[in-house]
Amino acid sequence: MPRGLHRVLGVHHLTNDTFSLRLARDGVDFVPGQCFNIGLPKTAVNREYSSYSGCNEEELQFLIRNVDGGEVSPKLRQVKAGEFIEVDGAYGLFVIDPSLIASTQFCFIATGTGIAPFHCFVKSYPGLKYRIVHGTRYATEAYNRTDYAPGCLVNCTTRDDKGDFHGRVTDYLVTQDLMVATYYYLCGNRNMINDVYDILRAKDISSSQIITEVFF
Ligand SMILES: Cc1cc2nc3c(=O)[nH]c(=O)nc-3n(C[C@H](O)[C@H](O)[C@H](O)COP(=O)(O)OP(=O)(O)OC[C@H]3O[C@@H](n4cnc5c(N)ncnc54)[C@H](O)[C@@H]3O)c2cc1C
Repeated sequence: MPRGLHRVLGVHHLTNDTFSLRLARDGVDFVPGQCFNIGLPKTAVNREYSSYSGCNEEELQFLIRNVDGGEVSPKLRQVKAGEFIEVDGAYGLFVIDPSLIASTQFCFIATGTGIAPFHCFVKSYPGLKYRIVHGTRYATEAYNRTDYAPGCLVNCTTRDDKGDFHGRVTDYLVTQDLMVATYYYLCGNRNMINDVYDILRAKDISSSQIITEVFF
């Protein structure tokens, strides 16, 4: 696995607690959906972050939520362009079988920064047939929603009614007729993933078509 120091190109603050971190790619390879271990140099502490940028882009980009009191994310939020970050990877099996892309419909279900690997899929695979159900507290947390094809993203908001649906992703999904031929990718917090998994199974979606990635 390649391990090295990558120059910070910039930090862009998307909301009060979420930011995107841009790093020089320096030839690092990854499969869309994979994550990297990232940390400050010489701290020996790192955390996993999924690639937000597509696999054909010049830079590596990550979408990170600042966890109050956290060991790594608050430090990453404060890095400045020109500093260096330790990056190790890529890892993980939360990926799409490329042979399915032409023939298959995908449904991506995320909470918060769990949308990161789905943004990476969309950027990496032009022509992907997808729909994203994204749960956030506020509509302002539907990060970079113009990067998705019109009508392909449903933002479910719990604390305002300025998204596309007022309520949790689970509230939205129970109202939907879900297609059994679709592949469902779930990413975010464990409770959401458990609840959505149960809803999908109750709607006759095969467990072999439900792929999950737990962030915390
Ligand atoms: C495969 C994988 C990919 C991931 N990709 C991303 C990503 O793309 N973007 C991203 O923002 N995070 C991602 N995470 C989560 C990330 O690895 C860290 O767990 C998170 O940034 C917190 O790290 P910390 O050191 O700041 O907090 P810690 O010091 O690890 O934790 C402090 C406290 O906060 C709690 N906590 C941890 N994470 C969260 C959270 N997200 N929300 C609320 N409470 C939390 C912990 O349980 C602990 O009690 C991913 C995790 C995994 C396993």
